[in-house]
Amino acid sequence: MHHDDHCIFCKIVQRHIPSKLVYEDDEMMAFHDIHPWAPVHFLIIPKEHIASMAQLKDQHSALLGRMMIKVDELARQEGCLPYPQGGYRLMVNTGDHGGQEVHHLHLHVMGGPRPWAKG
Ligand code: AMP
Ligand code: ZN
Repeated sequence: MHHDDHCIFCKIVQRHIPSKLVYEDDEMMAFHDIHPWAPVHFLIIPKEHIASMAQLKDQHSALLGRMMIKVDELARQEGCLPYPQGGYRLMVNTGDHGGQEVHHLHLHVMGGPRPWAKG
């Protein structure tokens, strides 16, 4: 599996820095965002270093599909109420204009009662 030694999320995958784990399997990891915007705010990342949406290829289809399918289960596990009264926001910032700060692909999952700090 490809890791980038300078990438903070690759360091989390390799347990070189700690995280508050939400979920882990062979190909993905989910952990709490260190600066939450909402009562529930966690990130889902591939363990493999993929910098952003811009690097995705056909070979990533199954991995991305499985990450998307995990969102709802993990959101409810972390306290989001079920759809449609509850739910969550899914966000993938991409590039400078997208507001991306960490260049390792991640899905933001945000939910819980409003108001939220942002958005
Ligand atoms: P983005 O702007 O989409 O690249 O978001 C990066 C997110 O990663 C931000 O919401 C940060 O709060 C979060 N973050 C940065 N470092 C850590 C860390 N060590 N553990 C958990 N979340 C982090
Ligand atoms: Zn990385």
